Amino acid sequence: MAERTPWSLSGALRGMFTKKTIDGETWDDLEDALIKADFGPNITEAVVADLRAKVAKYNTTDPKDLQRMLREGIEERLSRLDSTLTLSERPAVVLVVGVNGVGKTTTIGKFAKFLNTYGRTVIVGAADTFRAGAVDQLATWAERAGAQIVKPQMVGQDPAAVAFQTVEKAKNEGIEIVIIDTAGRLHTKGGLMDELTKIRRVVEKQAPIAEVLLVLDATTGQNGLAQAEAFIQHAGVTGLVLTKLDGSARGGFVLAVQERTGIPIKLVGQGEGINDLTGFTPHVFAQKLIG
Ligand code: GDP
Ligand code: GDP
Ligand code: MG
Repeated sequence: MAERTPWSLSGALRGMFTKKTIDGETWDDLEDALIKADFGPNITEAVVADLRAKVAKYNTTDPKDLQRMLREGIEERLSRLDSTLTLSERPAVVLVVGVNGVGKTTTIGKFAKFLNTYGRTVIVGAADTFRAGAVDQLATWAERAGAQIVKPQMVGQDPAAVAFQTVEKAKNEGIEIVIIDTAGRLHTKGGLMDELTKIRRVVEKQAPIAEVLLVLDATTGQNGLAQAEAFIQHAGVTGLVLTKLDGSARGGFVLAVQERTGIPIKLVGQGEGINDLTGFTPHVFAQKLIG
C-alpha cells in the first residue's frame, strides 16, 4: 500500500486504476491528474502518448498494467540524471543557495544531521550575515545536528570572509564536510550573484567546491523555478534540493523541474523536523507518487 502523502498522485488516480477496464475516459482522466500534479503540459503529453502506445502494443485493457507502466515510465525519466552527491573531497565544500524562505537553513540543519548520523564530521558556515536572526537560526540547527559552526564576527560581515574562515577551520581541524549557508534576497539580484561569485572565488583558494545545491520550494512550482533562474544562470548549480514536498500536491514538479533545468535532484525535504530529509531515489519516488 502506497504511503499517503499530499503529493501522491494515487489519490487522484485511484478511481482510474480500480476500474474494471481501460476505456475512453481513462486518457482524459490521466491527463487531468498529471496536469494537476504539475508535471507540465509537455511531460504530460509525452507520458500519455507513451502509455497509449504501450497499451496498444501489449494489447491490455487492465488498469493495473497502466498503473505499472506509468510508474515505470516516471521512474525511467527520473533516472536519466545522476542524483549522487559528490562528497569525496576532504574537505567537501557544499554551497547552499536559493531564494529567501525556500528552506536553505532548515535543509542545512537536516543535512548536517544526516551526515553526522553516517559518521561524517560537519562544520557549517553562517554566510547569510546580514540578519542576526539568520545566524542564530543556523546555530540552533548546528547544535541539534552535532555540527560545528563559524559565525560572522559582526552583522553584515563579508559573507565571503565567513565562508573562507569556515573552510580554513575545516582544513585545520580535519573536519570532513563544510556546508555554507547563504543569503537569498531578491531585490538586489545582481548584488547577490556577485556575492556568491565572491564566496566561490574565496573558497576555491583553499578547496574545490564539491556541490552547489539550489534549494527550491515545491509548493511554489513553476513560479518558484522562474524566481530561481538567476541562480541557475550564474551560481554553477550542481544539484537541486526540493523542500516542502509534505505540503505540496505537486509531486509532478519533481520530474518537471529536473527536465526543465537538466540538473539532478539530490535531496528532498518533507517536513520541518531534523529527520525530514532524504536522498533522491527515483524508484522510491515513483512508487510513492503513482502507488
Ligand atoms: P531560507 O530562508 O531559505 O533559509 O529558509 P528557512 O530554512 O528559514 O525556511 C523557511 C521556512 O520553511 C521555515 O518556516 C521552515 O520551517 C520551512 N521549511 C523548510 N523546509 C521545509 C519542508 O521540507 N517542509 C515544510 N513543511 N516546511 C519547511
Ligand atoms: P558592499 O558589498 O561592500 O559594496 O556594501 P554593502 O553595503 O552592500 O554590504 C556590506 C557587506 O555586507 C558586504 O560584505 C555585503 O556582502 C554584506 N551584505 C549586505 N547585505 C547582505 C545580506 O543581506 N546578506 C548577506 N549575506 N550579506 C550582506
Ligand atoms: Mg536562511
